[in-house]
Amino acid sequence: MNRILLASAFFLATVSAALADEIPSALPAAAAVGSAPKAPAPKLVEPHLHIARSNVAGHARIALTFDACMGQADERILSTLVRERIPATIFVTARWLKRNPAAVAVFLQNPDLFELENHGENHIPAVDTPTLIYGIASAGSPQAVRQEVEGGAAAMVAAGIPAPRWFRGSTAKYDLSAIGEIRAMGYRIAGYSVNGDGGSLLGAAITEKRIASARDGDVIISHINQPNHAAGEGVAKALIDLKAKGTEFVRLEDVEDTGDDKTTE
Ligand SMILES: [Zn+2]
Repeated sequence: MNRILLASAFFLATVSAALADEIPSALPAAAAVGSAPKAPAPKLVEPHLHIARSNVAGHARIALTFDACMGQADERILSTLVRERIPATIFVTARWLKRNPAAVAVFLQNPDLFELENHGENHIPAVDTPTLIYGIASAGSPQAVRQEVEGGAAAMVAAGIPAPRWFRGSTAKYDLSAIGEIRAMGYRIAGYSVNGDGGSLLGAAITEKRIASARDGDVIISHINQPNHAAGEGVAKALIDLKAKGTEFVRLEDVEDTGDDKTTE
């Protein structure tokens, strides 16, 4: 029995890791596999990030981070954050910014709640050699990584958003040389410690449970760009659950942090 439970847990963990970011539905998996490059795959890392704990019983300190990859804004989550006055860090792409001016206006009208950071220009994984990640072609060169980062930042500034200090790439995976390049551009790189919504592909109940069970010092990753997925309903409920538990919500700019794979030191 225990062995079966352990195997199930391992399977779920593996699936959740594989779904760490949104997989564009437009890319057929079979075609992606068929066009996989023959060169050996680069060593990729998916960095962790933690924030300084509150160490106050009953008041866990948690950083909510949301990715806005492409597509729309999830009003279930956005309206809950605003209504409940819950601060969060939102990673936006240039693509998403262009399509969602109303949501961007809400972010900018609530600077006490929202820290906006860089999720890239075109949602291309920040890996500087050619490879496929969940079927998405990587940037493939140092120049393309730089363009993804700089293009995202330029679109933010053009939209009236303060210059970003943090970067999180599409799929949240990197190779170490790309991490070095992005750090040299002056950015901290935002990993996470709790995968809240499995790339927005999990059900509402499991998403709520994952997020609501976050602990002191955790950084949660979820998505705010999939209004038609069940996961967003679970995210919105979990925000209420966490607030009811006395959670201290902080943004990345508000606290000390610790990231591995040389992402923040
Ligand atoms: Zn994304």
